[in-house]
Amino acid sequence: MKLSALGYWSSPEVPNLPDPARLVDADWDESERILVSDYLARGQVARQFMGVSRCRLCGSANGSAEMTDGTFIWPEGLGHYVIQHSVRLPRDFIGHIFARLAELDEASVDRSWWMARAFDV
Ligand SMILES: [Zn+2]
Repeated sequence: MKLSALGYWSSPEVPNLPDPARLVDADWDESERILVSDYLARGQVARQFMGVSRCRLCGSANGSAEMTDGTFIWPEGLGHYVIQHSVRLPRDFIGHIFARLAELDEASVDRSWWMARAFDV
């Protein structure tokens, strides 16, 4: 399995990553930021770390895990950057979120697996 990483920021050890301060977009629509932040919060925990990450913009404690949706992987605190600091994420990722939510909303549901097993436990 290969996951595409997003939301990792530059540091002295890894200087070639983006600086979140340069991605702040004060005009980013709040309802879209809420949707993106909620999506990020509902990912599945992929890895849990001992140390807490600090927000690069305000210094607050900002998670200690990596989250995934099976396609992307991001730091647990990425939603904080989106909702609190309006740090804009790539348009491709926003499109992925809308496509994924629409796909789930429109999915057909097969109840036969459950019906075949629910009474055999
Ligand atoms: Zn912050």
